[in-house]
Amino acid sequence: MAKRKSSGQRKRTSRQHSAWDVLNKKTVDCRKCPRLIEHCQTIAETKRRAYLDEDYWGGPVPNFGDPNAKLLVVGLAPGAHGANRTGRMFTGDRSGDWLFRALHKAGFANQAESTGLEDGLTLNGAAITNACHCAPPDNKPTRDEIENCREWFRSTIELLPVQVFVGLGQVGWRAVVDFARDQGWYSGKLPKFSHGAELDLGDGRWLIGSFHPSQQNTFTGRLTEEMLDEVFNKARQLVDRPEQMCH
Ligand code: SF4
Repeated sequence: MAKRKSSGQRKRTSRQHSAWDVLNKKTVDCRKCPRLIEHCQTIAETKRRAYLDEDYWGGPVPNFGDPNAKLLVVGLAPGAHGANRTGRMFTGDRSGDWLFRALHKAGFANQAESTGLEDGLTLNGAAITNACHCAPPDNKPTRDEIENCREWFRSTIELLPVQVFVGLGQVGWRAVVDFARDQGWYSGKLPKFSHGAELDLGDGRWLIGSFHPSQQNTFTGRLTEEMLDEVFNKARQLVDRPEQMCH
């Protein structure tokens, strides 16, 4: 029989949910990068032919997932016609199809499909954020724009009880390493990013590198389904048994 939560636990859970909602609302209201806000809105007005009947989100995309997440997936930025259309991280494009399928297989998502805000998808023990919350032209935010967005990145990590980070691509990996250095968790050389790379951040925290599930990587076979599954299986093991070494 499932254990009932004590009233103290219920209060803590409810406080955590409120703090998560407040952070997400602040992110959605952010207007620090005029170039990106304008770009998101322009895409929302012009749209892609396949989505002409849809109302695009067209602005900063909030974090998605469990406010008690021990796994945090860190991507680059919302896709122009994916998250910038649907308003949910990695939702509505092929990158998301790959990511949520892998999260589902590893037991972090209740379903593999992610099509829109009303599709019933929930994450359990995992959350997704981006180094940049607004869709950038050519998928390339400037250094200043990533710097602007660090406030949301920092607040996200401070709020969640994260044990394992999965950095998608060079930018996701670097965002976590920079944060870890700022916090004094890690003081070594800049570790080289590669798929499957593991970095011990101390206190049972780990960073795992993964190629980004962009079409550039999945269409060319640089990233296969098995390779992505391995990353999330490893994350699952570490979340369940943080004392276990990666190797
Ligand atoms: S990229 Fe980040 S900091 Fe810049 S406007 Fe969007 S949410 Fe704000």
